[in-house]
Amino acid sequence: MVQAIRGMRDVLPPEARRWRVIEEAVREVLHSAAYEEVHLPLLEFTELFARGVGEATDIVEKEMYTLLDRDDASLSLRPEGTASCVRALQENGLLYNQTQRVFYSGPMFRYEKPQRGRYRQFHQIGVEAFGLAGPDIDAELLALSATCWRRLGIAANVRLEINTLGAAPARRAYREALVAYLTPHQGKLDEDSQRRLTTNPLRILDSKAEATQALLAEAPRLPEFVDAESHAHFAELLGMLDALGIHYVHNPNLVRGLDYYTHTVFEWITDDLGAQGTLCGGGRYDGLVERLGGKPTPAAGFAIGLDRTALLHEVVHQDPMAAGADVYVCSLDSTQTAAVLGIAERLREATEARVRMHMGGGNLKKQMKRADACGATWAVLVGRDELDAGMLTLKHLVNGEQQTLSENEAIACIVANQFPGSSG
Ligand code: ATP
Ligand code: MG
Repeated sequence: MVQAIRGMRDVLPPEARRWRVIEEAVREVLHSAAYEEVHLPLLEFTELFARGVGEATDIVEKEMYTLLDRDDASLSLRPEGTASCVRALQENGLLYNQTQRVFYSGPMFRYEKPQRGRYRQFHQIGVEAFGLAGPDIDAELLALSATCWRRLGIAANVRLEINTLGAAPARRAYREALVAYLTPHQGKLDEDSQRRLTTNPLRILDSKAEATQALLAEAPRLPEFVDAESHAHFAELLGMLDALGIHYVHNPNLVRGLDYYTHTVFEWITDDLGAQGTLCGGGRYDGLVERLGGKPTPAAGFAIGLDRTALLHEVVHQDPMAAGADVYVCSLDSTQTAAVLGIAERLREATEARVRMHMGGGNLKKQMKRADACGATWAVLVGRDELDAGMLTLKHLVNGEQQTLSENEAIACIVANQFPGSSG
């Protein structure tokens, strides 16, 4: 048998049920805030990510799945969604002189070292807002993400870390000062940080190496380089978070991996998943639209990693999500299958329950065994007598109670989740 590619997982039903619960909750939160969904291609010209994510980032340097098209164009599987989202809105004339609040959901691809919580194909729900420069949209984005954690019942397991990088000139000036300070001590830096010194020096702040962190203790500090306007933006944002009751930790070393961030950056982090503890990252990226060829456009957004969110959800809510079916329809007369299929269809439409139709015949005992095995609460029994009378038999599989009813009466019981007058 040919096997799956390393780092590209199959999400099987138990995990997929959890994904669905999470995706539905997040979608509902975004929908309720009037964010609109967009669907974007998985493949883009490599140049989009080189310019959008940044040539000197780990992602573009060594993590992209790049291929040549039949006409020799260089294409890459998307490693993240923001650059594509900007490209799509810009290309379709949706950014100029307008505001947009959108989201998308789907797989991203990065050639990383696979481990628990880190895969080569992983799933993100991305949220982006364009044309809004104030800290109010930063606050809304953070409030929406906080609402997602609350809806999912994992709010107590995550914390918000937040920082400001300043506007682009401040960030550049700090970068130069940091490089000037670290260069004479290069030899003491860990290997990754030595490489980053020339490619992406701000990322060195993120290093977990003790010797590197010791050096950084004496290094120039980012907050001292941040411009006054950016400090004001950040102070206003923190004030709104306080007013909203959203707790945060100001982490002056938080920088984020992508090149395009300015001003606000943040991460939602959990201690319950070991090293892969960041569930969600985001921030403001005012320079990106212009960098990709558009007019200067303020923008901010975040991406939730679904794989890690599902792992944390499982740590907190260990019960398997409801599996199988709610209603199991047993057909006791093999000559009447089409009529019973019709009943199953009508039950599905009228109840919203998951109605599984028994297939393959067999006696009542065998069919009831299947009903129990799939976890259904109800069995619907349809035989010749029932069909002739226009009735069906509804059995509650938990308390064993059974009644013969009209289809409409049965629908009412399934919707109410009990027989009339019964305690359920
Ligand atoms: P990390 O520091 O963990 O590599 P990142 O900063 O590269 O994360 P982003 O690009 O900001 O991550 O993506 C946002 C979210 O997407 C992350 O917080 C995480 O939940 C998820 N994510 C990123 N890379 C992976 C991956 N390789 N496997 C699974 N989830 C991922
Ligand atoms: Mg990463």
